[in-house]
Amino acid sequence: MQVATDLLNRLELRSRATGESLDDLVNHLLRLGLATQQDKRALYVSAPVNALIEGIYQEDTRISDILEHGDFGLGTFNDLDGEMVVLEGQVHQLRADGQAYPVAADAKTPYACVNFFTPDSDEVIEQSLDFTELTHLLERMIPSDNMIYAVRIDGDFERIKTRSVPRQDSYRPLVEVAREQPEFEYRDIRGTMTGYWTPSFMEALTVPGYHLHFLSEDRQRGGHLLGCQTRQIRIAIQHLPRLEVGLPVSLDYLTATFTRDLSADLEEAEQDRA
Ligand SMILES: [Zn+2]
Repeated sequence: MQVATDLLNRLELRSRATGESLDDLVNHLLRLGLATQQDKRALYVSAPVNALIEGIYQEDTRISDILEHGDFGLGTFNDLDGEMVVLEGQVHQLRADGQAYPVAADAKTPYACVNFFTPDSDEVIEQSLDFTELTHLLERMIPSDNMIYAVRIDGDFERIKTRSVPRQDSYRPLVEVAREQPEFEYRDIRGTMTGYWTPSFMEALTVPGYHLHFLSEDRQRGGHLLGCQTRQIRIAIQHLPRLEVGLPVSLDYLTATFTRDLSADLEEAEQDRA
């Protein structure tokens, strides 16, 4: 009550000082508050995915910078040293042996997508789904293909298939690296998928459609998701109305040309070839 009275007194003082009516002042403040909340509902992409596809595997974006933009997401690490899962504010590095390693705050990434995860919907799916069925279900769950959605799937899986990109010492386009990527199959595993739906027209910036990474419940194993058979899962989805893209300032990025059509490379590098 004291707070409310104080607030009213301060609003009246402000109203007298500015000549704005109390109604207008409250409306204005509410709008400001909503705008601040909206700012948190953005997908942050640290660099265009095209740069990664063209083999630019080193940027100066620190993990600590990534965490300022979100507590949830995915990505990779400098020199393409494994797959990244960001879950509940913790960053996990799934190296080419499929195992998780701790990540230093000053580690760097050439590509990461994050947001602050607060789901709009949450649904339990009891029926067993393979990866194609899961993506079809997810496509039915989103209201429009032209928006961005963060997706978190927790559950019990009969089978999970992942890959982890191996660390690179020299330049090679991602599609060549992906041809030799170590793949892993896990049976009877619990864990979490983190990732996004992004529209096809954003394909220079993000991996279009669904892009999901997996981390086991014991936080020990995982990678870029290639396949699955679910048992029981919980799907949480958050609509993201804004996109923020970082443009690197490294020499490699500034002097690269991005005129080549990368859609075939992108598809081969990110999807299961089996
Ligand atoms: Zn990935």
